[in-house]
Amino acid sequence: MQVKLWGVRGSLPRPETPEKLQQRIVSLLKDFEAASTSSATEFMASLKPHQLGGYGGNTSCMQVLDGDKDLIIDCGSGIKDLGMQMMAGLAGQGKAKISILLTHFHWDHVIGLPFFVPIFIPGNEITFYGVQENLETCIKEMFKKPFFPVDFSWLPSTIKFEKLQPRKTVQIDSFDVTPYQLDHPDPCWGYRVDKDGKSYAHCVDTEATRISKDELGEDIKLYQDVNLMVFDGQYTLVEVIEKVNWGHAVAGLGLDLAMQERVDHVVFVHHDPYATHQKIQDAIEQTRQYQEVRVRECESVGQKIHPVTWEFGYEGMVIEV
Ligand SMILES: [Zn+2]
Ligand SMILES: [Zn+2]
Repeated sequence: MQVKLWGVRGSLPRPETPEKLQQRIVSLLKDFEAASTSSATEFMASLKPHQLGGYGGNTSCMQVLDGDKDLIIDCGSGIKDLGMQMMAGLAGQGKAKISILLTHFHWDHVIGLPFFVPIFIPGNEITFYGVQENLETCIKEMFKKPFFPVDFSWLPSTIKFEKLQPRKTVQIDSFDVTPYQLDHPDPCWGYRVDKDGKSYAHCVDTEATRISKDELGEDIKLYQDVNLMVFDGQYTLVEVIEKVNWGHAVAGLGLDLAMQERVDHVVFVHHDPYATHQKIQDAIEQTRQYQEVRVRECESVGQKIHPVTWEFGYEGMVIEV
């Protein structure tokens, strides 16, 4: 499996402002002047995608891929570009069977849906999956005047709704999908996706108020022994203390869960709309220090600790599971 991140911003789309772009270019030019290479091409090639282009401003949308099969998780503004790519691949013809899992209905997870081109193409079949009782109503409400000019009943694609049972596995294409509850003010469901012995845990949005096995109960299976976990890392340590009950976590909480439940690789997303490039760099450093402290603590009492690799996700990133 692979997971592609189409939107990693939380709460509100946050396009790069001209001022911020200028600041990044000035900073890169200074780095180039200081670099040992005289070739601009070589210097550019040495940078990671986010160092050049930032982390991205679109909100939550991920795609789980396995060959020509895929699942979409959430319809934040990132789904717009995904829809364009899907239709380009089909030369605009409606032949697609599209499965969309929804975590919850906060704006940042649904705002892209009215702009998802495949929904306007006859012949496409789109199935929405979700645990919430009001799944169908919430989707239909998005296509209503005066908020959007096209009524749901006018959409020419075939649209289906499948209600999922909490913690019950269903097969969607070749994927085994199980919803588990996250910690968020309005009920929000994470998804564990299993395929051929590999596993992906989608954990956005969550405050991760439950960490211990006792607190998590059955929901602990979301995290156990997964190969890749995408996790809510919206806040810094200070912010997460100030913003209790806002429904989001700091990366350190994801690391604690990963070390405890043997997650191999964590990618932190749902970056705060006001998190600048520098603020995310500071959060990365803070997370590195936190992991060092936790590893030392465990080693000092002879406790075995699961080695976890992690990074902060950027738009367009593709991760092997
Ligand atoms: Zn969100
Ligand atoms: Zn939310």
